[in-house]
Amino acid sequence: MKNLIPAERTNNIEYAIRDIVVVADRVKKTGKKILPLNIGDPNKFDFKTPPELIEVVTKAMWDNNNGYSPSSGIEDAVEAIRKEAVELKGIKNIQNIFITTGASEAIEICMTALVNRGENILLPSPGYPLYSAIVPKIESTFNTYYLNEDNGWQPDIDDIVSKINDKTRGIVIINPNNPTGAVCSKETLLQVIEVAKKYNLVIFADEIYDKLILNGSKNISIASLTDEVPVVTFNGLSKSFLAPGWRIGWAIVSGPDKEIADYIEGAQRIVRARLSANHPLQYAIKPALEGVCKHMPETLKKLSERGEITYKRLNAIKNISCVRPNGAFYAFPKIDIPIGDKEWVIKLLEETGVLCVHGSGFGQKEGTKHFRVVFLPQDDLLNQAYDKIEEFMNKNF
Ligand code: PLP
Repeated sequence: MKNLIPAERTNNIEYAIRDIVVVADRVKKTGKKILPLNIGDPNKFDFKTPPELIEVVTKAMWDNNNGYSPSSGIEDAVEAIRKEAVELKGIKNIQNIFITTGASEAIEICMTALVNRGENILLPSPGYPLYSAIVPKIESTFNTYYLNEDNGWQPDIDDIVSKINDKTRGIVIINPNNPTGAVCSKETLLQVIEVAKKYNLVIFADEIYDKLILNGSKNISIASLTDEVPVVTFNGLSKSFLAPGWRIGWAIVSGPDKEIADYIEGAQRIVRARLSANHPLQYAIKPALEGVCKHMPETLKKLSERGEITYKRLNAIKNISCVRPNGAFYAFPKIDIPIGDKEWVIKLLEETGVLCVHGSGFGQKEGTKHFRVVFLPQDDLLNQAYDKIEEFMNKNF
C-alpha cells in the first residue's frame, strides 16, 4: 500500500486556538499547572447552560424528536429567529433562515455557496481563524483587511477599499469581534454598507457575540441598516446561551428579494444535501430567543468585571498595551518584544503555565505582535495569570 497523500487543499488549514493546545499538553506532562486563557468556551469556567433550555431539550428527546428535522430547521425555531431578528434587531427584508450545526456550519455553507475557485471574500485581520480555514477548502484566495488598533479595532475602511479586486464577492464583519473584543460603531457599519453597495459585495455579519456587550456599548446588527445590500447574519446558542457543545447556529439572509433569490437557492442546495442540524437541540431556540432564561444579568456582570481586570492589569505591565474590550470575552493586547509572538506564547507557557494564543494565529499588521486573552476564568485565576505574565515580562524583556 502506498502512503496516503492528503489533498493539497488541506496544507494551508490552520486553527491556532486548537494548535497551541498540542504544545500545552506537552507542557502539562512535565507537571506544570496550566492557566487556560486560550479557549472561548464558557462552560469550561463558571458559566452553565441555562436549566430552562436543558429542560426543553430533554423533553424534546423523550418526545422522540430524535429523527432528522426539516433541512432548514424546525418551524417554531425558524419563526422565533425571524421574530427576534425583526422585532429586536430591526432586520429588514428577511428572505431566508436556516438552522445549522453551529454558526460554523452556516458560515461554511454561505461562503461555499458564493465563491468560485479563485474568487475571494474580504476577511478581517485580526479575525476568527475559521474563516481562513474555509478559504483553501473552497479553493478561494486569501484577501484580508485590517482592523485599526489605533481606532479601537474598528474595520479600516480605506484598507477595505484598497483590497477590493474584480474577484471580490463579499466581506466578513465580526461584530462583536473575536479576537479583539471590539464592537463596531454605527458610523463604521454604515461605511461598510456603502462600500458593499458600490462594489456589489455580500456582507457576512458574524454576530455570535451580539448579546455579550460590555461597558454600555450598543450592538447594532448591520442588516438593520440596509435593505439594499445582501447581508447574511450568523448567530447561535454557543456564546450568548452558554451552550457551544450543542452545536446550534443559524443564518439569516436578508436583502433585495430578486437579486438574492439564486444565491439562496444555491445555499439551500447545500442545506438540503446535508440533511439537517441536530434536531432535539433546536427546541431550545424558541425559549432562548423569547427571553425565558435568567442567566444574562449575571453573565454580563462577570464578563464586565473580568474584562475590566484584564484591561487594567495588562496595561500596567511593561511592554504590553491593550485596547479596552467592549464585547464578547476576548482582548488582544499588543506586546513589544524582540522575539516572535508564537515564540513568546510558547516561552510564557513553558515558564509560567499561562496559556494564550499568539496574535499571528488571527492575523495582524506586519511588524506588530499580539496575543489573545480569553477572560472567561474567575477573577482569582485571571489575577494569578496576570501576576505571572507581569513577572515573566519583568524577568525576560
Ligand atoms: N464565529 C465566531 C466569531 C466565533 O468566535 C466562533 C467560536 O468561537 C464561532 C463563530 C463558532 O460558533 P459556533 O460554536 O456556533 O459554531
